[in-house]
Amino acid sequence: MQRKHFNIPIFIPNAACPHQCVFCDQKKISGADKIPSVDMINDMIQKYLGTMREGSEIEIAFFGGNFTGLPVNIQEKFLQAACKYIRDRKVSGIRLSTRPDYINEDKITLLKQYNVTAIELGAQSMDNEILKLSGRGHTADDVVRASSVIKKSGISLGLQIMIGLPGDTPEKTINTAQRVAALGPDTARIYPTIVIKGTGLERMYHTKEYVPLSIEDATEWSSHALQIFDESGIKVIRVGLHPSEGLLSGESFIAGPFHPSFRELVLTRIWKKLLDRFLYVSENEELIIYVNPEEYNYAVGYEASNKKMLGKKFRKVVFKKEPSIKGRYYGSTYL
Ligand code: SF4
Repeated sequence: MQRKHFNIPIFIPNAACPHQCVFCDQKKISGADKIPSVDMINDMIQKYLGTMREGSEIEIAFFGGNFTGLPVNIQEKFLQAACKYIRDRKVSGIRLSTRPDYINEDKITLLKQYNVTAIELGAQSMDNEILKLSGRGHTADDVVRASSVIKKSGISLGLQIMIGLPGDTPEKTINTAQRVAALGPDTARIYPTIVIKGTGLERMYHTKEYVPLSIEDATEWSSHALQIFDESGIKVIRVGLHPSEGLLSGESFIAGPFHPSFRELVLTRIWKKLLDRFLYVSENEELIIYVNPEEYNYAVGYEASNKKMLGKKFRKVVFKKEPSIKGRYYGSTYL
């Protein structure tokens, strides 16, 4: 049986960022506001370890900021602290997030010395105009080059994209997902763009230079990206923003397609498109749909929306779990 995977997240907010991306206030997104000390890192790791089940696969994850942009002595300090837990066999590896223009062979050599197992790059888009409008300060070529350096090193590559950045369109989202998939990452994350208080995007939102996506459009565009990654065999480890306290309370949220169950909405959308053909069949009383147990909730839909959609056509709609069915295939019977 596959071991359950957990990350121990350590946020390095806005550290070593040479640019200010228009959408970003890492402090508000992550809920962290200062670079942690080694003591704080140890405390956090121990606290998390105390809550995790034995036998789980656990990685220490340095997220946020621009890890490989930190001075080397600080990178080493953090990595040494994390490495101790690998030596003690408490965790299996270290993962970190960074910018594509802060990856080169020398930086990778350092990370390999400290058993870094996965690097996640904020690609965000493969469209240079979108990257420019978003203040990213790197190009799509940087993503291609950095991805190739990471893949050659044997470290697992993760790529993160954002949906609905300034200048984005459905076609550009699809193109970005296709180009990212072609880079062969092991994992991907899909984040809808939202407007956070105090960011450049907030100013653009108030001056009407930027209009956030509706939840429907963000869901639809994300569903294309997710399908492209799924079809390429890329493990999508996140769809939608992690609901931090500031986002849930509305304190840092200004506008945009934030939803605590965003992934479920996107998967519901994918299933809606698979199932809506039943709306066009000739009259039947009852419809039974057989799906893989892992897909069951998404097939039924968020708040049973797909079931309700079919319920307008059929007197009775029943979804059944069928373990022999793989992925998003399904069987059906009419009565
Ligand atoms: S590089 Fe990352 S952390 Fe830095 S401003 Fe941009 S999104 Fe935020």
